[in-house]
Amino acid sequence: MQRFETARDAALTLRPDESVYCFRPEVLKADARRFMELFPGKTAYAVKTNGEKIVLKTLAEAGVNAFDVASPAEFSAVRAVAPDAEMLYMHPVKAQSDIRLALEGYGIRSIAADHEDEVTKLVRVVRALDIDPGTITVFVRIQTKGHAAYELSKKFGAGPANAVELLQRLHRNGYRVGICFHVGSQIEDPIVYERALASADWVRGRAGVPLAALDIGGGFPADYGHDPRRKPREMPSLEQIMARLRADITEWGFEATPLVAEPGRVIVARAFSLIVRVLLRKGRRLYINDGIWASLSDSWTGKITLPARFIPDPAIRHRNGNPQNIVPFRVCGATCDSVDILSRPFWLPETVDTGDWIEIGHIGAYSMALRTRFNGFYPDTFVEVATPFDAGAAPEGLASLETMAD
Ligand SMILES: *Cc1c(COP(=O)(O)O)cnc(C)c1O
Repeated sequence: MQRFETARDAALTLRPDESVYCFRPEVLKADARRFMELFPGKTAYAVKTNGEKIVLKTLAEAGVNAFDVASPAEFSAVRAVAPDAEMLYMHPVKAQSDIRLALEGYGIRSIAADHEDEVTKLVRVVRALDIDPGTITVFVRIQTKGHAAYELSKKFGAGPANAVELLQRLHRNGYRVGICFHVGSQIEDPIVYERALASADWVRGRAGVPLAALDIGGGFPADYGHDPRRKPREMPSLEQIMARLRADITEWGFEATPLVAEPGRVIVARAFSLIVRVLLRKGRRLYINDGIWASLSDSWTGKITLPARFIPDPAIRHRNGNPQNIVPFRVCGATCDSVDILSRPFWLPETVDTGDWIEIGHIGAYSMALRTRFNGFYPDTFVEVATPFDAGAAPEGLASLETMAD
């Protein structure tokens, strides 16, 4: 991978027409270590957030030795770079053949379920393989309620009474049991963890079985940008969220229970930025070489404000307008799909023109993981960049929260 001091250096050297991912391994390591220092339990990185080989490898180097995986492709991606790492198979709904592969092929011994038929599948495989159920921890996923940029609890999780039955059945069958939840992504208020802990406490009390572990899932927010023309949204820092979480863990009597967390976004968001090129400026519209079907779907669906930095092409000798004047541009993606327009404008100097580049910061989470080959555009160029996005010149632009009239 080519290395550069800054994304600007990369853009001006490579003059890329395809979008380029700028990877910052030191930022990734620092953010992973920060989480591990703050969380009083096992940190299992959620592979789905960004399963690139360089990411998994760098995390393993940083000391991450547990991974939350959901599919055979994720098992093998982790095994390839971190052969000794523990994997937790936390997808609540699994193919029976995948359960078998997890147990037999990868030695996975932590697994989630939220329905009795899922438990039946597991029990069948465990019997067929003649594994001692006492070596397996089954996490019963419970429903949670709350506000996140993404709500996932609508899809997964057993209701409290049902969770109690599942725990008792698993315990009777000789399994070690745990409780898990996942409150959604980009959590803004730590109260959602407290509510989930309260439910977990209720379920534990009713089930009356020894709890081997509690897995509090992911959802921890990453730092993004905010629109300077608006009041910044009150976002607690990770330190504040963790302080509150530790207090709630004690309050609800889980301080002696082995804990697991499955952070994704908070660990990997800052580790990448994206260089995109302006293929065409048409008035206040910019057509760029990336978009919602490539690296930018998360900012679109998650209503996330990304910081952006203008990289003017020095080959453009004549520009119109005043570079100090920051104005909104509607940003259209690379594909021919008419929905491929970012939901919010980018605020950039009014001098931006066809051929310039824009560096979009903090795109490590749910960007390359969600890219598609739609229309034949598939960004896959990576460079390593030494300077953290936030340490460079202040980003003069941002993909704003404000919606813009056409
Ligand atoms: C997606 C997911 C995560 C990671 O969520 P983040 O918000 O990125 O931290 C963790 N656990 C489960 C079960 C998930 O589905």
